[in-house]
Amino acid sequence: MTQRIALLPLVLIICLVAVMSPGCTTDQQPATEPTATVEPTVPAGEDSYATVLEPGTLASFIDRYPVGTLSAEEESDILFMQEEEKLARDVYAVFYETWGMQVFRNIGNAEQTHMDSVSVLVERYGLEPSSRINIPGEFANAELQALYDSLIDSGLQSPQDALRSAALVEETDIVDLQDALSRTDKADIGYVYENLMRGSENHLRAFVRNLEQQGESYTPKVLTEDEYEEIVSTPVRPGGFT
Ligand code: ZN
Ligand code: ZN
Repeated sequence: MTQRIALLPLVLIICLVAVMSPGCTTDQQPATEPTATVEPTVPAGEDSYATVLEPGTLASFIDRYPVGTLSAEEESDILFMQEEEKLARDVYAVFYETWGMQVFRNIGNAEQTHMDSVSVLVERYGLEPSSRINIPGEFANAELQALYDSLIDSGLQSPQDALRSAALVEETDIVDLQDALSRTDKADIGYVYENLMRGSENHLRAFVRNLEQQGESYTPKVLTEDEYEEIVSTPVRPGGFT
C-alpha cells in the first residue's frame, strides 16, 4: 500500500506526459498500474537519442511540483550530475572530431539535452553551477577531471577504444544516477534522473552494439554483470532512438 501511494505521483506524471505528447493518441488510457510506463515525449529523428523532454518543456512541466528544500547531498548531487552530463558531451565531441563516427555526434547532441535538463534543476533550486561549466574539457570536480583525462587518453588510441571509453561513461552515469536517486525524495529531481538513466541505458546499448558490429566485445567495468546483461539484453525502449 505504501509503495503504491509513493508511486502515485510518478503515474500522474506519466499520464500527463502521455496527454502532452503530440504523437500520443487520445484513445491511450492512463496507466493504472504502478508498473505500467509510458515513455516521455521524444521527437523522432536526429534528436531521438534524447529521452528527456526539451528543457523548456521540462521546466514548465516540473513547475507543477513544489520547490522543496534540498539536503546538502541533494544539492551536491545535482551539481555533480550537471558536470557529469557535461563530461559525456565533451568526451563525445572529442571522439567525433577525432574519428568522425556519427554515433558520437548523435549521442553527443543527446548529452547536451541531458546537461540542459540538469541545468533546469540547478536554476530551479538557485544553485551555483561549477565555475568550469562553460569550458569544454574542464571540470571543477577533480574526480570528473581525472575521469575525463583518462577517457580521452584511451579513446584517442583507436575508434574501438573510443567506443569502450564511451560505454564506460554510460556505465558510470547509470551508477551515479542510481546513487543520486537513492538520496532524493523529490519528485521533480527523481523525474529528471529517471529520464537521464533511461537515456544512458540506450546510449550504452548503442555503443556496445557498435563495438559488436566491429567484431569486438565489451565487459562492464562499473555495473555488475547482472545489471549490465539486463540492460543490453533489453530492447531499445520507445523514445530511446530509432
Ligand atoms: Zn547523459
Ligand atoms: Zn549518455
